[in-house]
This record gives sequence, structure tokens and C-alpha cells, in this order.
Amino acid sequence: MGGNEIFGNEEIQECMEVLQTGILMRYNFDKERKGIFKVRTFEEEFARFHGVKHALGVTSGSTALKIALTAMDICPGDEIIVPAFTFIATYEAVIEAGAIPVMADIDESLNLDPKDIVTKMTPYTKAVIPVHMCGAGANIEQIVATAKNLQLLVLEDNAQALGGSYKGQKLGSFGAMATFSFDYYKTITTGEGGMVITNSKNLYERADWYHDHGHDHDHTVSRAMEGRTILGFNYRMNELQGALGLAQLRKLEYIIGEQRKNKARVKEMLASVKGIGFRKHFDESGDTATFLAFNFEGAAKAMAFQKALGENGVDVVCFKNNKWHYCPNWEHLLAWSTANSRKFPFASNDYRGKVEYSIRNIPQAEDLLGRTLVMGIPVKMSAERLQQIEKAIDRAKSVV
Ligand SMILES: *Cc1c(COP(=O)(O)O)cnc(C)c1O
Repeated sequence: MGGNEIFGNEEIQECMEVLQTGILMRYNFDKERKGIFKVRTFEEEFARFHGVKHALGVTSGSTALKIALTAMDICPGDEIIVPAFTFIATYEAVIEAGAIPVMADIDESLNLDPKDIVTKMTPYTKAVIPVHMCGAGANIEQIVATAKNLQLLVLEDNAQALGGSYKGQKLGSFGAMATFSFDYYKTITTGEGGMVITNSKNLYERADWYHDHGHDHDHTVSRAMEGRTILGFNYRMNELQGALGLAQLRKLEYIIGEQRKNKARVKEMLASVKGIGFRKHFDESGDTATFLAFNFEGAAKAMAFQKALGENGVDVVCFKNNKWHYCPNWEHLLAWSTANSRKFPFASNDYRGKVEYSIRNIPQAEDLLGRTLVMGIPVKMSAERLQQIEKAIDRAKSVV
């Protein structure tokens, strides 16, 4: 899936430049690195691509979320509104920051329903995290407007829709901050890695300090003499990741272009299936086409169709039954089984609210995800594979 399918000489060349200097750290060693700053250059190109002022390379999409929440001064006792349908990392990052994730409903785009922000808001709510799932954008204009009215910060989790846009503006440039992942499955990959972007100098500085032990990165003095105002930790990206990121970012438009062609072919094959519907897009021209989501009137038909496709060599996912992407299925989270024996932050005295992870609070997610099937769209799809998919769809047609 995505960038991992098309590693080539570009990635090798970028990494070789780093290995030839031997400087794997992004900071310091200014003489030995011979002018090579891969992470810094990757950040500059990434920020430019998104039309934002600042980008910070970090170790993963999960740490990017934690860093952004910390930069936004999210504190123990705060509540953060998060869609029920997302990868578990979005919830984990909120918990890592000491705050409480509040599960909200999705709309027909399979992303956070802006209407549910008002419903889930409490006196403790500080921020909302729309997640652009499966390659396509949430109703981001409406989400930002609603959050503004309620004085909530918006952090876009754009781990899954890098390169996507809404009305020509890149996803990730709408909220106060946004995060991205470059893990091995994502649209572009650095093996592991992530990025935080923002237009705010203040939020950028706090993220930058926090991600590197508080270092203020005043490059006029030696690293050992740099100042600090807050404590931090180590979430630094290394130069080999920066090198891979640069080579992969330059292939992003190509990746999305190929995925769009492949998705259009499969969508055309599915269009003739009786009773089929497709995921709603607020701006289909901004879809990154990493996934194709389609639905039936009921869960029984969806399950039958999924089974028939699988028997013919084509696997599709029903996310209501998935262990890692749907909040009601996370039995350890529901039991407040955090990695500390005091169940912090849920059982902490700092928290005055009463979070409830009941499926009654997310009726649309329960309905939509149960009758929606999702197919991953690769960059490379051979004629044989397309034929196999066509045959599978043809056979599955008769069961719905
Ligand atoms: C992959 C992903 C993350 C976490 O990224 P990692 O780099 O794997 O830590 C966060 N949110 C979403 C929606 C993701 O898909």
C-alpha cells in the first residue's frame, strides 16, 4: 500500500548522501554534515506543500499527536472530542497527554459529524480531533466553524489522508495544528515517523521544544549551551528518516494519481451491483483514493458480499468488526486499563466529568460501519489483479 510499493533509486540516493557523511542526527555536527540537513529540508518541503508556516518531523504519527496536544497545553482533567471511528492511536495520544477522549459520532463521510461536537461538549472540553479516515476529508469547514463558536481548538489527525484537500486547500491546514504518520502502511513512509504542522509560531515553538528535551534550538550557540523554558522528552526524527521522507514526498502526487485511476476502475465495476451505495465525499476531487468504501442497506447483505469477495481472493474490511479502528471494540480502553495501575487519567481526581463509551452515543457509526465495506487501493494494480477483482464482484453480485 502506498509509498512502500515504489521504493527506488531516489530513496537509496537520499539515504546514501546521509550515510556518506555518517551524521544520522538532525542537530549539531555542522562541519561534518557537509551542508546536508535532510530532516530540516523534509520539514521545509512538507510545510510548503501544505501552505503552512511550520512543520516538525517526529518519531511517529502517535507521538506527533501527543506533541501537538502538549503544545496546545492540554492538561489532566480536560476532555477531547474524538470520532468513534479512528485508529486507536488518536485515543492513546489523548490519554498519554493525561486527558480524556470523548467518543463522538460519524456522518456519511465516515468522519467526525460536526453536529455531534455540540452534543458531546461539556464544561471540560478543550479540543476536537477530526480524523480524515481512509484517504478522504471530514466536513472540515463545518467542524472548524463549530469549534470556533464553542472556543475549542481543532487538531486534525491526517495520518490517513496526506495530500488530500477540500476546495483546493490541503487537509491539515484547517485546524490550529495537524499531524501525519509515515509508518510503513501510510501513503508515504519513512519506516516509522510523523510530522506536526501549524501556522502558529507559539504552538510550533512549544512542539519543537517539547520534542527535544526542551532545547530552544538557538543555533547561535553550541547545542550544549542552548536554553530552555519547559521540560520535554525525545521524539526527534533522524536523518535517514528525513532522507526517505524527502524521496517519498516527491512521489506523493504520482502515488495519489495512480491510486485514483485504480479506484475509478474498481468503482466502475462495483457500480452495477444491485443496492450498492458509496461513501459520501464533501469534495471528491480532493480524495487521495487510498481506500474505496461502499455500502448496502443492511449489515446482512454487507457480510454476505464480504464473504463472497473473500472466497474469490478479494479481501475487504468491515470496520465495525475490526479490533483496532472502532472504539466500542477496545475492551481494554472501556475497562480504563491504562499502563499504570491507578487507571490514570480516568480515575484521577483531576477529572470531574463522566465519560461514557456506550454505543447508544454513536448510533450513526453503529449503523454505517456495520453495512460499509472498505477496500485498500494500491499504487500498482496489474491487469490480472483487476480481472480477479472483476470476477470476484461478478460472483458476489448474486448474494445481495
Ligand atoms: C497510523 C495512524 C496513527 C498513528 O501513526 P503511527 O505513525 O503508526 O504512530 C494515528 N492516527 C491515525 C488515524 C492513523 O491511521
